[in-house]
Amino acid sequence: MLGAGRRLPEGRSLVTWAGEHQAVLGAARELELEGKPVVILPTDRRGLADLSLVPAEAGLISLGLANNELGTVQPVAQVAALAQARRALLHLDCCQGPRWLRPPLELVDLASFSGAKLGAGPGGLLYGRQEVRLEPLVYGGPQEWGRRAGREDVGSALAVAAALSICAERRGEEVERIADLSDRLLAALNDAGGELTGGEPRLPNYATAVFSQRRGEDLLLALDGAGIAASSGSACASGSLDPSHVLLAAGYTLEAALGSLRLTAGYETTATEVDCAVETLRRVLRR
Ligand SMILES: *Cc1c(COP(=O)(O)O)cnc(C)c1O
Repeated sequence: MLGAGRRLPEGRSLVTWAGEHQAVLGAARELELEGKPVVILPTDRRGLADLSLVPAEAGLISLGLANNELGTVQPVAQVAALAQARRALLHLDCCQGPRWLRPPLELVDLASFSGAKLGAGPGGLLYGRQEVRLEPLVYGGPQEWGRRAGREDVGSALAVAAALSICAERRGEEVERIADLSDRLLAALNDAGGELTGGEPRLPNYATAVFSQRRGEDLLLALDGAGIAASSGSACASGSLDPSHVLLAAGYTLEAALGSLRLTAGYETTATEVDCAVETLRRVLRR
């Protein structure tokens, strides 16, 4: 996204949303420091991008396939149509979602994937249409058609490719099973007095809520003690006691944002584990 942003033509801006991941917002901030026009738009309560506000001078639009804290799936086809109408490039942050949804690469100019989120280690993958020109982030040799200097990281490339093949094989058969498990987690959060967050369409493995009278940190500690790994806000910002910028962008109060809880399931999650998590949630949230 940064590499395309540095090539924005005069008078065109980067457009993104306040609920995007720090990986995108930090790059947006850098572009702004470099003097490029940057527009950060609000999301609705579910975390959905508000498309009505995309300005005419948009030159690069960056959006997540799904929001990493709320699991909300963004309307990619509509954004792609809008980008085309504006003659803007579309970058899709696909770090969340490929386990459950086929990333619609045919609709986008650039897409980024995180190996870590796919169980493939710290490498990543950037998809781009051949004609999209990027300013390299690292200067040096002409490797990878001048887009990324330095020796190719073959190990990471193979690991990410293998992980994406596994996603393509498994997502069809897993979606329904995982959605059933998440529904049980959502019901447990709701029964315990949580206000469910996110909304449809959501990734099938997300169960999120806010508990205004509680601190997310306390809930995490109690759940962790019982062997349940949950998160409050973004795992990438864990250790920080700041409220989640995603929930604030979606209009939640500071108090609610500090009491957020997120439970996600994976291909490996079993029904027995979810039963156990539901029991633990009941016990911890009753206290
Ligand atoms: C995790 C994540 C990133 C960053 O990926 P890293 O590989 O950790 O740098 C970017 N966007 C979203 C939506 C994410 O969930």
